Amino acid sequence: MGTRERLVVGNWKMNGSLAGNAALLDGLVSGWERSGGRAIAVCVPFPYLAQARERLSGSGIAWGAQDVSAQPAGAYTGEVSGGMLAEFGCRHAIVGHSERRQYHAERDALVGAKARAALAAGLTPIVCVGETLAEREAGRTGEVVRRQLEAALEALGDAVAKVVVAYEPVWAIGTGRTATPEMAQEVHGALRARLGEAGAGSIRLLYGGSVKAANAAALFAMPDIDGALVGGASLDAGEFLAIGRA
Ligand code: PEP
Repeated sequence: MGTRERLVVGNWKMNGSLAGNAALLDGLVSGWERSGGRAIAVCVPFPYLAQARERLSGSGIAWGAQDVSAQPAGAYTGEVSGGMLAEFGCRHAIVGHSERRQYHAERDALVGAKARAALAAGLTPIVCVGETLAEREAGRTGEVVRRQLEAALEALGDAVAKVVVAYEPVWAIGTGRTATPEMAQEVHGALRARLGEAGAGSIRLLYGGSVKAANAAALFAMPDIDGALVGGASLDAGEFLAIGRA
Protein backbone atom coordinates (compact mmCIF):
# COMPACT_ATOMS: atom_id res chain seq x y z
CA MET A 1 0.00 0.00 0.00
CA GLY A 2 2.94 2.31 -0.58
CA THR A 3 3.23 5.33 1.69
CA ARG A 4 -0.46 5.70 2.45
CA GLU A 5 -1.05 5.71 6.18
CA ARG A 6 -3.62 3.21 7.41
CA LEU A 7 -6.80 4.77 8.81
CA VAL A 8 -9.57 3.04 10.76
CA VAL A 9 -12.71 5.10 11.41
CA GLY A 10 -15.59 4.11 13.65
CA ASN A 11 -19.14 5.11 12.74
CA TRP A 12 -21.23 4.90 15.88
CA LYS A 13 -24.43 5.64 13.92
CA MET A 14 -27.34 6.58 16.24
CA ASN A 15 -25.94 4.75 19.23
CA GLY A 16 -24.61 5.88 22.57
CA SER A 17 -25.38 7.56 25.88
CA LEU A 18 -23.26 9.83 28.03
CA ALA A 19 -22.44 7.01 30.44
CA GLY A 20 -21.83 4.37 27.78
CA ASN A 21 -19.70 6.70 25.65
CA ALA A 22 -17.53 7.60 28.63
CA ALA A 23 -16.62 3.95 29.12
CA LEU A 24 -16.05 3.39 25.39
CA LEU A 25 -13.94 6.51 24.87
CA ASP A 26 -11.87 5.88 27.98
CA GLY A 27 -11.34 2.28 26.86
CA LEU A 28 -10.09 3.53 23.51
CA VAL A 29 -7.73 6.04 25.10
CA SER A 30 -6.29 3.57 27.57
CA GLY A 31 -5.84 0.83 24.97
CA TRP A 32 -4.69 2.93 22.04
CA GLU A 33 -0.96 3.19 22.70
CA ARG A 34 -0.73 -0.47 23.66
CA SER A 35 -2.37 -1.27 20.34
CA GLY A 36 0.38 0.37 18.36
CA GLY A 37 -0.88 3.96 18.22
CA ARG A 38 -2.30 3.60 14.68
CA ALA A 39 -4.45 6.32 13.10
CA ILE A 40 -8.01 5.83 14.32
CA ALA A 41 -11.01 8.11 14.59
CA VAL A 42 -14.58 7.87 15.85
CA CYS A 43 -17.55 9.58 14.17
CA VAL A 44 -20.11 10.16 16.91
CA PRO A 45 -23.66 11.58 16.98
CA PHE A 46 -23.66 15.42 17.02
CA PRO A 47 -24.70 15.85 20.68
CA TYR A 48 -21.71 13.80 21.81
CA LEU A 49 -19.04 15.81 19.99
CA ALA A 50 -18.29 17.86 23.10
CA GLN A 51 -17.87 14.67 25.08
CA ALA A 52 -15.59 13.17 22.42
CA ARG A 53 -13.51 16.33 22.45
CA GLU A 54 -13.27 16.28 26.24
CA ARG A 55 -12.27 12.61 26.46
CA LEU A 56 -10.06 12.33 23.37
CA SER A 57 -8.17 15.64 23.36
CA GLY A 58 -4.45 14.99 23.53
CA SER A 59 -4.92 11.25 23.00
CA GLY A 60 -3.88 10.69 19.39
CA ILE A 61 -7.40 9.47 18.57
CA ALA A 62 -9.36 11.79 16.27
CA TRP A 63 -13.11 12.38 16.23
CA GLY A 64 -15.62 13.50 13.67
CA ALA A 65 -19.24 13.62 12.57
CA GLN A 66 -21.48 11.31 10.55
CA ASP A 67 -22.88 14.03 8.28
CA VAL A 68 -22.48 17.74 7.53
CA SER A 69 -24.65 20.35 5.90
CA ALA A 70 -23.87 21.46 2.35
CA GLN A 71 -24.61 25.02 3.54
CA PRO A 72 -22.33 27.21 5.66
CA ALA A 73 -25.07 28.85 7.80
CA GLY A 74 -28.64 30.12 7.75
CA ALA A 75 -32.23 28.95 7.66
CA TYR A 76 -31.63 25.21 7.40
CA THR A 77 -33.49 23.79 10.39
CA GLY A 78 -31.90 20.68 11.82
CA GLU A 79 -28.69 20.99 9.85
CA VAL A 80 -25.17 21.23 11.31
CA SER A 81 -22.48 23.14 9.43
CA GLY A 82 -18.86 22.23 8.85
CA GLY A 83 -17.80 25.32 10.78
CA MET A 84 -19.70 24.09 13.82
CA LEU A 85 -18.04 20.70 13.56
CA ALA A 86 -14.62 22.33 13.27
CA GLU A 87 -15.33 24.35 16.41
CA PHE A 88 -15.78 21.07 18.26
CA GLY A 89 -12.43 19.78 17.03
CA CYS A 90 -13.74 17.37 14.39
CA ARG A 91 -11.18 16.19 11.89
CA HIS A 92 -13.53 14.13 9.71
CA ALA A 93 -17.10 14.17 8.45
CA ILE A 94 -18.68 11.16 6.78
CA VAL A 95 -20.72 12.17 3.72
CA GLY A 96 -23.00 10.06 1.56
CA HIS A 97 -23.26 7.10 3.91
CA SER A 98 -25.69 4.62 2.37
CA GLU A 99 -28.07 5.10 5.31
CA ARG A 100 -28.23 8.82 4.47
CA ARG A 101 -28.75 8.00 0.81
CA GLN A 102 -31.44 5.42 1.63
CA TYR A 103 -33.39 7.05 4.49
CA HIS A 104 -32.82 10.72 3.69
CA ALA A 105 -32.89 10.55 -0.10
CA GLU A 106 -29.42 12.05 -0.44
CA ARG A 107 -28.42 12.16 -4.08
CA ASP A 108 -24.94 12.16 -5.61
CA ALA A 109 -24.91 15.91 -6.23
CA LEU A 110 -25.81 16.68 -2.60
CA VAL A 111 -23.12 14.31 -1.37
CA GLY A 112 -20.60 16.17 -3.52
CA ALA A 113 -21.78 19.52 -2.14
CA LYS A 114 -21.46 18.20 1.41
CA ALA A 115 -17.91 17.04 0.72
CA ARG A 116 -17.09 20.50 -0.62
CA ALA A 117 -18.60 22.16 2.45
CA ALA A 118 -16.60 19.91 4.76
CA LEU A 119 -13.35 20.80 2.99
CA ALA A 120 -14.21 24.50 3.13
CA ALA A 121 -14.45 24.17 6.91
CA GLY A 122 -11.08 22.43 7.12
CA LEU A 123 -12.51 18.95 7.68
CA THR A 124 -11.61 15.79 5.80
CA PRO A 125 -14.74 14.34 4.22
CA ILE A 126 -15.04 10.58 4.08
CA VAL A 127 -17.04 10.12 0.89
CA CYS A 128 -18.99 6.85 0.88
CA VAL A 129 -19.82 4.92 -2.27
CA GLY A 130 -21.28 1.46 -2.75
CA GLU A 131 -23.80 -0.66 -4.58
CA THR A 132 -26.95 -2.36 -3.31
CA LEU A 133 -27.42 -6.12 -3.53
CA ALA A 134 -29.77 -5.73 -6.50
CA GLU A 135 -27.20 -3.60 -8.31
CA ARG A 136 -24.43 -6.14 -7.66
CA GLU A 137 -26.60 -9.02 -8.81
CA ALA A 138 -27.43 -7.09 -11.98
CA GLY A 139 -23.70 -6.71 -12.68
CA ARG A 140 -23.89 -2.95 -12.15
CA THR A 141 -21.38 -2.54 -9.29
CA GLY A 142 -18.71 -0.82 -11.38
CA GLU A 143 -21.17 1.54 -13.01
CA VAL A 144 -22.88 2.57 -9.76
CA VAL A 145 -19.69 3.18 -7.82
CA ARG A 146 -18.20 5.05 -10.76
CA ARG A 147 -21.28 7.31 -10.97
CA GLN A 148 -21.04 8.11 -7.27
CA LEU A 149 -17.33 8.86 -7.56
CA GLU A 150 -17.81 11.04 -10.65
CA ALA A 151 -20.26 13.23 -8.72
CA ALA A 152 -17.62 13.80 -6.04
CA LEU A 153 -14.99 14.54 -8.69
CA GLU A 154 -17.29 17.03 -10.35
CA ALA A 155 -18.07 18.82 -7.07
CA LEU A 156 -14.50 18.84 -5.81
CA GLY A 157 -12.21 19.24 -8.78
CA ASP A 158 -8.55 19.13 -7.72
CA ALA A 159 -9.58 19.19 -4.06
CA VAL A 160 -10.54 15.53 -4.39
CA ALA A 161 -6.90 14.85 -3.47
CA LYS A 162 -7.80 15.94 0.09
CA VAL A 163 -10.64 13.49 0.75
CA VAL A 164 -10.91 9.92 1.94
CA VAL A 165 -13.17 7.58 -0.03
CA ALA A 166 -14.93 4.63 1.60
CA TYR A 167 -16.24 1.76 -0.50
CA GLU A 168 -19.16 0.26 1.41
CA PRO A 169 -21.24 -2.31 -0.44
CA VAL A 170 -24.74 -1.72 0.97
CA TRP A 171 -25.44 -5.45 1.23
CA ALA A 172 -22.45 -5.83 3.57
CA ILE A 173 -23.37 -3.06 6.02
CA GLY A 174 -24.62 -4.35 9.35
CA THR A 175 -25.49 -7.71 7.81
CA GLY A 176 -22.47 -9.77 8.87
CA ARG A 177 -21.81 -10.35 5.15
CA THR A 178 -18.40 -8.99 4.19
CA ALA A 179 -17.16 -8.61 0.66
CA THR A 180 -14.23 -10.99 0.17
CA PRO A 181 -10.88 -9.20 0.10
CA GLU A 182 -10.74 -9.92 -3.64
CA MET A 183 -14.21 -8.44 -4.28
CA ALA A 184 -13.30 -5.32 -2.32
CA GLN A 185 -9.91 -5.01 -4.03
CA GLU A 186 -11.53 -5.19 -7.46
CA VAL A 187 -13.63 -2.11 -6.68
CA HIS A 188 -10.82 -0.31 -4.85
CA GLY A 189 -8.50 -0.90 -7.80
CA ALA A 190 -11.03 0.65 -10.18
CA LEU A 191 -11.60 3.60 -7.83
CA ARG A 192 -7.84 4.11 -7.52
CA ALA A 193 -7.40 4.04 -11.30
CA ARG A 194 -10.07 6.70 -11.83
CA LEU A 195 -8.73 8.83 -8.98
CA GLY A 196 -5.27 8.51 -10.50
CA GLU A 197 -6.56 10.05 -13.73
CA ALA A 198 -7.82 12.95 -11.60
CA GLY A 199 -4.43 13.38 -9.92
CA ALA A 200 -5.62 11.85 -6.66
CA GLY A 201 -4.32 8.28 -6.91
CA SER A 202 -2.70 8.37 -3.50
CA ILE A 203 -5.70 9.24 -1.34
CA ARG A 204 -6.83 6.71 1.23
CA LEU A 205 -9.51 4.22 0.23
CA LEU A 206 -11.30 2.58 3.15
CA TYR A 207 -13.46 -0.54 2.98
CA GLY A 208 -16.63 -0.76 5.06
CA GLY A 209 -19.18 -3.50 5.60
CA SER A 210 -19.14 -5.84 8.61
CA VAL A 211 -15.44 -5.34 9.27
CA LYS A 212 -14.31 -6.97 12.50
CA ALA A 213 -11.01 -8.00 14.05
CA ALA A 214 -11.30 -11.46 12.48
CA ASN A 215 -11.50 -10.26 8.86
CA ALA A 216 -9.58 -6.96 8.96
CA ALA A 217 -6.07 -8.27 8.33
CA ALA A 218 -7.08 -10.08 5.13
CA LEU A 219 -8.79 -6.94 3.83
CA PHE A 220 -5.85 -4.69 4.75
CA ALA A 221 -3.47 -7.05 2.92
CA MET A 222 -5.02 -5.95 -0.38
CA PRO A 223 -2.93 -3.37 -2.25
CA ASP A 224 -5.63 -0.70 -2.58
CA ILE A 225 -7.35 -1.07 0.82
CA ASP A 226 -5.92 1.52 3.20
CA GLY A 227 -8.13 0.95 6.21
CA ALA A 228 -11.74 0.58 7.23
CA LEU A 229 -14.94 2.38 8.07
CA VAL A 230 -16.41 0.32 10.90
CA GLY A 231 -19.98 0.42 12.18
CA GLY A 232 -21.08 -2.21 14.70
CA ALA A 233 -17.60 -3.30 15.77
CA SER A 234 -16.63 0.29 16.64
CA LEU A 235 -18.96 0.17 19.66
CA ASP A 236 -16.59 -2.24 21.44
CA ALA A 237 -13.26 -0.68 22.39
CA GLY A 238 -11.32 -3.95 22.34
CA GLU A 239 -12.70 -5.05 18.99
CA PHE A 240 -12.21 -1.64 17.40
CA LEU A 241 -8.62 -1.35 18.63
CA ALA A 242 -7.95 -4.86 17.36
CA ILE A 243 -9.09 -3.75 13.89
CA GLY A 244 -6.74 -0.77 14.19
CA ARG A 245 -3.91 -3.19 15.01
CA ALA A 246 -4.70 -5.69 12.25
C1 PEP B 1 -20.98 1.49 8.38
O1 PEP B 1 -21.96 1.88 8.95
O2 PEP B 1 -20.27 2.32 7.78
C2 PEP B 1 -20.63 0.07 8.44
C3 PEP B 1 -19.71 -0.39 7.66
O3 PEP B 1 -21.34 -0.71 9.33
P1 PEP B 1 -20.99 -2.22 9.80
O4 PEP B 1 -19.50 -2.26 10.09
O5 PEP B 1 -21.81 -2.43 11.03
O6 PEP B 1 -21.34 -3.12 8.68
